[in-house]
Amino acid sequence: MRIDIVSLFPGMLEAPLAESILGRARARGLVDIRVHDLREHATGRHRVTDEPPFGGGGGMILKPEPLAGAIEALRAAGSALRAAGSAPAHVILLGPAGRRFSQVVARELVRRPHLVLVCGRYEGVDERVSEQLVDEELSIGDYVLTGGEPAALVVADAVTRLLPGVLGDEDAPARDSFARGLLEHPQYTRPEVFRSAAVPEVLRSGDHGRIARWRTLMSLWRTWERRPDLLETADLTPEEQKWTDAFRQGRTPADLLD
Ligand code: SAH
Repeated sequence: MRIDIVSLFPGMLEAPLAESILGRARARGLVDIRVHDLREHATGRHRVTDEPPFGGGGGMILKPEPLAGAIEALRAAGSALRAAGSAPAHVILLGPAGRRFSQVVARELVRRPHLVLVCGRYEGVDERVSEQLVDEELSIGDYVLTGGEPAALVVADAVTRLLPGVLGDEDAPARDSFARGLLEHPQYTRPEVFRSAAVPEVLRSGDHGRIARWRTLMSLWRTWERRPDLLETADLTPEEQKWTDAFRQGRTPADLLD
């Protein structure tokens, strides 16, 4: 998979993309992530990328021409790669007015061979960019950042993590929070007792059936306590449905485990 990121501040992206799991995935050729400096597509002696808004008001707005130059160059680079006939680049503008990014959207994007992520800055981006040059806008949540770079990192990270071979454990994404529309159960590692809190006995029992049941119950309980909204759309088994009904009647996991 290829991910191109367009930014006025490439330095904000290079270091995080070089570390840990993403850095290793890139080094191993599992994902080709490239960062592009928007200023290289700005023309004139001063390479201007932003101007004050028409109609007044504070701040600066990114001009359309440098963004058009960057996006069109990347779409063309994509078509060259596509001699083999894969799908065209999917160009995403990061912005608070976009569709909300989620695990479902990450799973949708990982099926695309080529993503282009465009980072806004200052007071945002000329509206004609979203109208004419991008395929969609994505927001990472209801808050405002100083620029799209952290949002592009969020999208690149969540998508890359789903590519085959990126995580040591192939089945990990299937067990993560949101995989089935639920939060993950609590996790523990050594030591067995930390400041007088012991790891639940069942996890040390070696009984895989009991462990699986405990994890399912705790995943459901945690979702019930913290994100009951997720239960409205989660796809539950009949046993999970029974447990949820029991929570609704005031029962807790301790009442439900034998
Ligand atoms: N004036 C704009 C905010 C501009 S913030 C408004 O009120 O909508 C500057 C840039 O940061 C945006 O162009 C966008 O690329 C990025 N950004 C800010 N918040 C974001 C969010 N929640 N999700 C994705 N990108 C965001």
